[in-house]
Amino acid sequence: MKAPTGRAGTSRGDIKALGATLDNDPALRAAWVVKARAAGAEVDDETPGKKLVRLALGRALDAQIRTNPIARDEAFRCQHCDRDVPVGGRRPRDHCPWCLHSLHVDIVPGDRAAGCGGLLVPSGVEPSAKGLDILYRCDRCGAARKNRVLDDLTVPDDPAAVRGLVARVP
Ligand SMILES: [Zn+2]
Ligand SMILES: [Zn+2]
Repeated sequence: MKAPTGRAGTSRGDIKALGATLDNDPALRAAWVVKARAAGAEVDDETPGKKLVRLALGRALDAQIRTNPIARDEAFRCQHCDRDVPVGGRRPRDHCPWCLHSLHVDIVPGDRAAGCGGLLVPSGVEPSAKGLDILYRCDRCGAARKNRVLDDLTVPDDPAAVRGLVARVP
């Protein structure tokens, strides 16, 4: 699971430099105290500048950027085989159980934040600690993705389709 990139100006080095600036600029520092408090951090006049920046930005970034999967389980019409796919039930349905295709809609599972919408085409499988992962490549943007094989749901992944992918493993 990867966090999205693009956290402009928030590398460790940037935070350290900005923190040092704050320690020498009371007015700027006061503004960051307000910002950190607005972000829900408990800070005071003794809080070091670097920590102040980290708290102010960290809380704001955490609110914007989710890193944990969201258990979003929805029925959908498969964009590849056109069949109606029911909800998973015990686990979120994230691909078609018959043709195994999926859609590039998530950055983190369930967040629907990818903004791509391309078809995720299954290209193979890979063993994981929890079973078997289907490997995908997005037909629109080329992103690589993985989804776990769902073999224990009411409508399990078609074993023949999964075997077909296993056969493709180089
Ligand atoms: Zn399908
Ligand atoms: Zn894509």
